[in-house]
Amino acid sequence: MKMLIEAFVTTIILALAAFICASFINVELQINQVKDFQATSIGQIETSNFDPNVIAQCQSEAARRGYTLSLSMTKNEEFLRCQRCNKVFSKDQSQCPICHSLDNTVYAQDRLAVVNITYKTKMPILNIEREGVLHGYAR
Ligand SMILES: [Zn+2]
Repeated sequence: MKMLIEAFVTTIILALAAFICASFINVELQINQVKDFQATSIGQIETSNFDPNVIAQCQSEAARRGYTLSLSMTKNEEFLRCQRCNKVFSKDQSQCPICHSLDNTVYAQDRLAVVNITYKTKMPILNIEREGVLHGYAR
């Protein structure tokens, strides 16, 4: 009888340990998913050249997954760049100071955006919920 109880208790403890291990792995997977999402979002924002629609789309996708994506520009000075001679000059000038061309495009210099993703990880078995923030940069 004593052997039976010992075996039973051992089995219960082992099962519990395995369950807790699985929970830790699950939390790790949840964090990996946030990291994947962060990398994808930053890539999309950068390749779209900070298009407001793309940023809004990333934010709604974040909300759908239960994250919060916030983006703040640390520096957003816009200049104009001459299409003919590549001279970069201030936006209040209407034409290129060197070749006087009017064919200019907007040029963002030293643009840097901090992309923060707030997420929650859940460990249902121990009833633990933690909040985390991932910081990233888009330029
Ligand atoms: Zn020019």
